[in-house]
Amino acid sequence: MTQHLTDLAQGQHYPAGALYIVATPIGNVADITLRALHVLGLVDRVAAEDTRNTAQLLSRYGISKPSISVHEHNERSAAERVIEHLRNGERIACVSDAGTPGISDPGAKLVDAVREAGFPVIPLPGASALTTALSAAGAWVQTFTFVGFLASKPKQRATQLQSFAKEAGALVFYEAPHRIVETVQALADALGSERQLLIARELTKLHESLHRCTLAEGPTWLAGDPNRQRGEFVLVVEGAPHQDAAEDAHDALLSTLLEELSVSSAARLAATLTGAPRNALYARALHLAKSEEE
Ligand code: SAM
Repeated sequence: MTQHLTDLAQGQHYPAGALYIVATPIGNVADITLRALHVLGLVDRVAAEDTRNTAQLLSRYGISKPSISVHEHNERSAAERVIEHLRNGERIACVSDAGTPGISDPGAKLVDAVREAGFPVIPLPGASALTTALSAAGAWVQTFTFVGFLASKPKQRATQLQSFAKEAGALVFYEAPHRIVETVQALADALGSERQLLIARELTKLHESLHRCTLAEGPTWLAGDPNRQRGEFVLVVEGAPHQDAAEDAHDALLSTLLEELSVSSAARLAATLTGAPRNALYARALHLAKSEEE
């Protein structure tokens, strides 16, 4: 069976002078595809985020290749070197430290430069913390926005979160252990405490855990055991509660009225203008006024 699949991977055409985007495991070293192994064995060179890290990974599959370092700070200049090698007819694989290149990792600028220079870019699907977490999220996630890492400064982070607050689809974040509690608290503050949250930790690794709770419960659960704050995290947050077009229009009206009037006067005038119940408009005006203060 495996030989048959290996033959399939080998049987495909892998043109020379092309850049291959190759996903690598996010923890469990066995999570690499047969096709990725074939291409890593075939290429002339590997463009890697951390060449030592990649050399170690490749050696586990019995592969050794010359490498070019392509990281966050040299991606454009490194792209020039990659393009030179492509001009010489080489096949080059682009890999990051873990998962799929270009997903919160270097790779996207290299892709732009290589395509602009007229060479093919060939993606090989594989592991990513994003799709791994989503695959186990459940039916409450239908559509999603991938945010990745939030800004670390509280003010910037709050502004960023405000811009996603009305998204109907789920929001997906990456986070490091030292900021996990603070970030989950910031999510609860900005998005409301009732939304569902999936905390996916150490995916595919020994201490893998997936915990589902509300945003309000998240910080308490994390604080309940220091081990829960260790490792790498994906956070999946439920989208904004459904709001229909009429409610959107009421919010817009109330926001304008609140610029000049008190909460109760804004609600009263809005009720007269729209015919909607005054107490519902009052509750909404109160919420809008509070969000504005924060
Ligand atoms: N390119 C990678 C991908 O495709 O998922 C992401 C690289 S990004 C620099 C690293 C972040 O991805 C980590 O801080 C964490 O948020 C997430 N991550 C990576 N591996 C993970 C894992 N095994 N479990 C949970 N999250 C992970």
